[in-house]
Amino acid sequence: MGKMDAVVPEKHSLDSKFTFRCHKDIKCFTKCCSNIEILLTPYDVVRLKKKLNLSSDVFLEQYTHMKIDEQSSHPHAILKMAEDAERKCIFLTDEGCSVYEDRPANCRYYPIGQGTMRKDSEQGPVLEDFFFFVKEDHCFGFDEKKNWTIESWREDQDAAHYDEVNREWKGLQLRKNLQGKTLDEKKQFQFYMASYDLDMFKKYIFESNFLNVFDIDDETLAKIKEDEKELIQFGAKYIKYIMMLEETLKLKDGAEAYKRK
Ligand code: SF4
Ligand code: SF4
Repeated sequence: MGKMDAVVPEKHSLDSKFTFRCHKDIKCFTKCCSNIEILLTPYDVVRLKKKLNLSSDVFLEQYTHMKIDEQSSHPHAILKMAEDAERKCIFLTDEGCSVYEDRPANCRYYPIGQGTMRKDSEQGPVLEDFFFFVKEDHCFGFDEKKNWTIESWREDQDAAHYDEVNREWKGLQLRKNLQGKTLDEKKQFQFYMASYDLDMFKKYIFESNFLNVFDIDDETLAKIKEDEKELIQFGAKYIKYIMMLEETLKLKDGAEAYKRK
């Protein structure tokens, strides 16, 4: 959320301080909800499809478009904007955001932007979050006198929970295919399904040859059947496997015969 030229090029941490207030009576109310590119995370889709009582494929079809990242070749779901001159977010109404309790992580963080980097540690590579401010000319929130740290803002907006659920998936965005190749169409489809189309991914696990090919323990199966947050974690594992980043899944004896079917 926010345009690149509004990004203040300085990295911040959770204890960085700022002054900001956003409320219904501010003259720029909802000005930040038009003509923007909002990349959705897996947990955003889970929350929004539940809010709208839709299956993941219908939600993706109606409210998003797919964009292939040029650098990584990863497919991403991007929230649709209205196709008029203003290009308003399709969830924007005169009253504000119609999905406010389930708004995407990027909307929760705004006017903070967030990134993740991989760092080496004694325990191996770890993911570390960093933050930056997005100061757009139309946003008057920075003129208001309410003090925050990035951490207190993140708590207030219930964004930390999103970070926790999306962490493994976000880590994938930092990693390229080990062989330096771009993902082919089949792998892009699998990546997209295991990231966003979780109803289809669940069907693929439980209603195809998947369990004849992969050795998945009963406890994991019970968890992913019941809990979509667990399914997101399993989806990240599956993506790591298909991208040949890690041997996160084990093949069953005789799996080759099923893989050919
Ligand atoms: S989802 Fe809500 S908060 Fe986010 S851009 Fe759309 S209207 Fe604004
Ligand atoms: S203060 Fe900034 S974040 Fe709040 S409505 Fe205005 S433009 Fe959007």
